[in-house]
Amino acid sequence: MSARAGAGKAVTMGERPARERVRDFSEVDCGLSAEEAVAEAERCLQCKKPSCIKGCPVEIDIPLFIARIAERDFLGAARIIKEANLLPAVCGRVCPQEVQCEGACILGGKERPVRIGDLERFVADREREQGLVIPPVAEPTGKRVAVVGSGPAGLTAAAELARAGHNVTVFESLHEPGGVLMYGIPSFRLPKDVVQAEIDQLRGMGVEILTNHLAGASIPVADLHAYDAVFIGTGAGLPFFMNIPGEQLNGVYSANEFLTRVNLMHADRFPEYDTPVRHAGRVVVVGGGNVAMDAARVARRLGARVTLVYRRREEDLPARRAEVIRAQQEGVEFELCANPVRILGSHFVTGVECVRMEMCSLDDSGRPEPSPLKGSNFTIDADMVIQAIGQGPNPLLIRKIEGITYGRKGNILVDEEGRSSLEKVFAAGDVATGAATVILAMGGAKKAARAIDRMLREDQRDH
Ligand SMILES: Cc1cc2nc3c(=O)[nH]c(=O)nc-3n(C[C@H](O)[C@H](O)[C@H](O)COP(=O)(O)OP(=O)(O)OC[C@H]3O[C@@H](n4cnc5c(N)ncnc54)[C@H](O)[C@@H]3O)c2cc1C
Ligand code: SF4
Repeated sequence: MSARAGAGKAVTMGERPARERVRDFSEVDCGLSAEEAVAEAERCLQCKKPSCIKGCPVEIDIPLFIARIAERDFLGAARIIKEANLLPAVCGRVCPQEVQCEGACILGGKERPVRIGDLERFVADREREQGLVIPPVAEPTGKRVAVVGSGPAGLTAAAELARAGHNVTVFESLHEPGGVLMYGIPSFRLPKDVVQAEIDQLRGMGVEILTNHLAGASIPVADLHAYDAVFIGTGAGLPFFMNIPGEQLNGVYSANEFLTRVNLMHADRFPEYDTPVRHAGRVVVVGGGNVAMDAARVARRLGARVTLVYRRREEDLPARRAEVIRAQQEGVEFELCANPVRILGSHFVTGVECVRMEMCSLDDSGRPEPSPLKGSNFTIDADMVIQAIGQGPNPLLIRKIEGITYGRKGNILVDEEGRSSLEKVFAAGDVATGAATVILAMGGAKKAARAIDRMLREDQRDH
């Protein structure tokens, strides 16, 4: 470790100016140079009891990988991260570090926490430039595991199980693996070649990934039960709707559909690609979370004037603060304390009727409960409406698995190690927790994979 540990000024990663980036889908953040990464790494105090690790759901040895960066051993740093996390270039870009590892960093009390996420991204990008090192896998156990869904939960479970020597097959309903990493999060936040490279590692570890395979339909449940264990990571891709008049009009999308069309099916390049998306001059996005920010920023990049309607105040927006600021910089207009009551139009959308909301008593989460102000209705002109008010697990597969227990919101009920009510069937990620984060999906999948591995080994001993 460098003698300068704890010294030096905090380093800030550069980003492309808003007026330039709003014209394309290239990445907003510029990454750190080697000099910047080393300088930031040298700020780490190398705490004896590092609180940052406790803040990381997959428990990366954060001080150790940072020490390697300070020593300019970037590949060594990547190896340490990958012992705990096979998707570091993804996590370095999209994890909410401010409430996880960086939120727990001791330096946060006095100055700015170490930029752990930016450092993770730096080493992952360095490693990728030089060709990713495929993690070693154990001797084959002869056990077969079916993984359903190839989002961060499915990919993590598949990687952990392959490392342990099991024969893993991933079934993915879409034509590309990656889940939300591919179809949801736009490429200006998470470039698709970065995701692709991290998925390719799994193939290098011997994992078979079968796309266009919809479990519960083209893959019957009985076929899944033929495996020694089943891991379900089907996410929460079923969008919620507002259930207001006008939702059936042409030009009304769920954020999921809109983002999938653009991110995965290149609708922005129609007719070069054959999936279209409505060309809108004015777009209203409903919602205040990360999904709403992504939809609004994508719509801006397609050239629309965008108004984001959210029923609470700016300080209540559930999206990451940095993404709210970026949306504002890119020209997204915010209509706060407002809620749509009707979508207007006869065949195509022409506008959205909203009502003003006032903030009343606090709800269970401590946020003010919004209530409509009588007679305050107003209209926003729009030819496209994108609803981003949340999503839940898709029931297609879950309802077909006889005997599996699920909750009121359709999420599979599991114990802390991902065990469902059915022997040999495990689940983690959004399908178990409801819509959450990439790293929580990965953390849950890792625990489930360890439990599956233990179960399969005990099984092997008993026979
Ligand atoms: C637009 C958007 C932006 C987000 N931004 C962030 C962010 O910045 N940071 C963050 O941490 N989190 C973010 N999230 C949340 C995060 O992406 C999810 O919590 C995470 O992807 C959940 O992982 P998962 O593996 O459980 O599910 P998913 O990523 O949803 O993957 C599930 C996969 O299962 C497949 N599948 C579903 N049913 C079947 C079936 N029957 N058979 C076969 N395959 C099936 C789906 O096609 C999908 O590929 C965002 C979510 C969205 C929608
Ligand atoms: S808590 Fe912060 S300063 Fe301490 S080891 Fe972790 S990153 Fe370094």
